[in-house]
Amino acid sequence: MQELTMMKNLKNKFVVIKKFLFVSLAVVTIGLGWKLPVLGYIVPVVMLTAVVLSLYNGRYHCGNICPRGMFLSVFFIKKSKNALIPVFFKKMSFRLMVMGVLMGFLVFRIAQNPTSIDYVGRVFWLMCAVTTGIGIILGFIYKPRTWCSFCPVGTMQKIIGRHSTNIQIDKNLCLNCKVCEKKCPINIDILSTVKETEVTGSDCLKCSLCISQCPKKALSWGS
Ligand code: SF4
Ligand code: SF4
Repeated sequence: MQELTMMKNLKNKFVVIKKFLFVSLAVVTIGLGWKLPVLGYIVPVVMLTAVVLSLYNGRYHCGNICPRGMFLSVFFIKKSKNALIPVFFKKMSFRLMVMGVLMGFLVFRIAQNPTSIDYVGRVFWLMCAVTTGIGIILGFIYKPRTWCSFCPVGTMQKIIGRHSTNIQIDKNLCLNCKVCEKKCPINIDILSTVKETEVTGSDCLKCSLCISQCPKKALSWGS
């Protein structure tokens, strides 16, 4: 029992340190990238990591590694109105349009001076700064991570890693109260994606929030 508590405390400490490091990375990159364009290269590294990881575990990167995602959750959790995210943002047609516009902008700008290290770094920084600005505004109005419901990197991970959530539901315990859906950072319609005993939404960020917030402990990670 004591060992279990120790392990839990260690895990909590690790999560706090991880959050601190990733949030600091986001703040430093966005805050100083205009002066030190080389910091802009952190953006493609994060994007590539997300895409590679999605092959194995869907949007795990979004919920557990993404520095901007953590920045938005940590800084705006108290300031956000925490209103439901508009369904429109989650529609695939809208998400593909956002992805097309942003990727098109990226390629167009880089093509203008592809051999300049500073120039290319600044293009990545600019895209990250502008989209984070949009994320902050939406985070105040709706939920802190509204941006993540249509972020192009999230959409890529959803398309590439079509994995189910691996969350199991005990229908005998479930009250249908939908607390899990309200607490979900991107308001996934958890209950409507259930197939037999499995929650199958491929947008799941694997953040575990629904599991910890369910009043009946009806949700759990599958093996
Ligand atoms: S929070 Fe728990 S009990 Fe409520 S709907 Fe979700 S799974 Fe069911
Ligand atoms: S709250 Fe649950 S369903 Fe929503 S992203 Fe987190 S783990 Fe996935």
